[in-house]
Amino acid sequence: MNFRDPRMTIAKLVEDVVAIYGRNKCLTFEKTTYTYEKFNQKINQTAHGLRNLGISRGSRIGLFLSNCPEYLYTYFGVIKLGGINVPINTFLSSEELQFILHDCEMSAVVTDQKLYAVLEPIIPTLPHLKHIIVVDKDIPGTIPFRTFEKEIRENPTWDSPTNSDIAVIHYTSGTTGKPKGAMLSHKNLLAAIDANTDAIKISHRDKIIVFLPLFHVFTFVVCILATLSYGTRIILLGSIRPFKRVIRAILKYRINILVGVPQVFHALVNANIPWFFRFINPIRVCVSGGAPLNAEVLQAFQQKFKIPLLEGYGLSETSGGICVNPLHGLQKPLSIGVPIKGVKVKLVDEDDLEPGPNEVGELFVQSDSVMVGYYNQPEETKEVLQNGWLRTGDMAKIDADGYIYIVDRKKDMLIVRGMNVYPREVEEVICSHPKVAECAVIGVPDKQRGEVPKAIISLKENVTVTEKEIRRFCHEKIAMYKNPKYFEFRDVLPKTPTGKIMKKVLKQEEFERLRKT
Ligand code: AMP
Repeated sequence: MNFRDPRMTIAKLVEDVVAIYGRNKCLTFEKTTYTYEKFNQKINQTAHGLRNLGISRGSRIGLFLSNCPEYLYTYFGVIKLGGINVPINTFLSSEELQFILHDCEMSAVVTDQKLYAVLEPIIPTLPHLKHIIVVDKDIPGTIPFRTFEKEIRENPTWDSPTNSDIAVIHYTSGTTGKPKGAMLSHKNLLAAIDANTDAIKISHRDKIIVFLPLFHVFTFVVCILATLSYGTRIILLGSIRPFKRVIRAILKYRINILVGVPQVFHALVNANIPWFFRFINPIRVCVSGGAPLNAEVLQAFQQKFKIPLLEGYGLSETSGGICVNPLHGLQKPLSIGVPIKGVKVKLVDEDDLEPGPNEVGELFVQSDSVMVGYYNQPEETKEVLQNGWLRTGDMAKIDADGYIYIVDRKKDMLIVRGMNVYPREVEEVICSHPKVAECAVIGVPDKQRGEVPKAIISLKENVTVTEKEIRRFCHEKIAMYKNPKYFEFRDVLPKTPTGKIMKKVLKQEEFERLRKT
């Protein structure tokens, strides 16, 4: 398959894959398994149904639903019509959802009964929204998904997309402010598929388990697009819970690729795994992405399971993963590895110069997988796309072997007495304390020092610790100015589905607290 051929599109890719692997098992969900041929038939039926509703080239369709086969039929059906998919985070509130539906003038939304409750109150405020399709219930005023399930006799022909057409818009908070829609073309996605399949050497013999939410770019590109391109079998779960079901599915289907966010590997380290798993463990490779992977978790995971766990890194703006620790090479803890096929990176420091080895600068990326721009946001686009490079907003360093380390988000950096403090460095120190489970460091205004670090900590189960003990631990390990002035202990820290600690929420809470005092 030539993913870099300018005549190639995701729509054509599906047809080509079906022509090669038609009879192979493609997708298993609950008790049903679909072959590639059957899967394509479902996609065609969905495309047909959507076309009858007036969905065509350039139409934007929101996917606001939990993991299910209909998610995939819609995604590829929309692609075949030359339309644009807009995957939406299923954890959003009505207000946040309204922002996205309004921002990209969505013509239709596919949802499920549970999430319809979030959508319903805002429907009157969305004049562009013509159709709401519900997959699992007949709700008055909406279209049941099952109406798409009619046999279509003729071989369908569509107004096929081109390689430069936008295939998907992924909303991301990016480096600043309100969510922005990163527009990814067919060309961007195909480059990402090419690079990711090369990095983890996917083949039609592989079986992958997918329990991460499909709305996340990392999940979709690696777990769905990359695997489907090679005729891999996908075992789709509605969610990660109950975790026992994930373990059972790994054993039952002899899953050999597992892609997760850091919490998944943390959970696996702590999970009660059947003793025989050690001997029949079918997994050949695990990939962690979306947020930093704690070095302690990585070590404990490798000790327990004896399989490679590769930390990778990517953004919505890069169509997912662009760096990963090499499968057949040196893997370095705390590093996001090296750039994958077709990806170039450089660092740029505050003086617009390229820093030397192990010196910090902002990470810039060049790749065919880098987005076309933010939807309807030319100014924001100009800020991040400069001379063929994408500014990631992440501060990083590169060691003498070319391995990259993310130091922190640029916007999270604190300036204490004029000196840069990267919260992640302080967090890693605190997390290395044997009683600490998780930690987030944020900046708090300070009259004398400008800003000072505050650490918000959650402890491991059934342990206690004093603030004094953690303070002393930090003093021994990091420079005085990096030491948190304040500590707060909580049971849990707020997190996104991809495992990122929601610092925005913590900062907002701190802001409110300071305003009241
Ligand atoms: P999103 O566009 O929502 O996928 O978020 C992308 C951001 O996630 C990046 O800019 C990084 O700040 C962060 N990120 C992703 N993977 C990693 C990783 N392995 N280590 C540290 N940060 C990561």
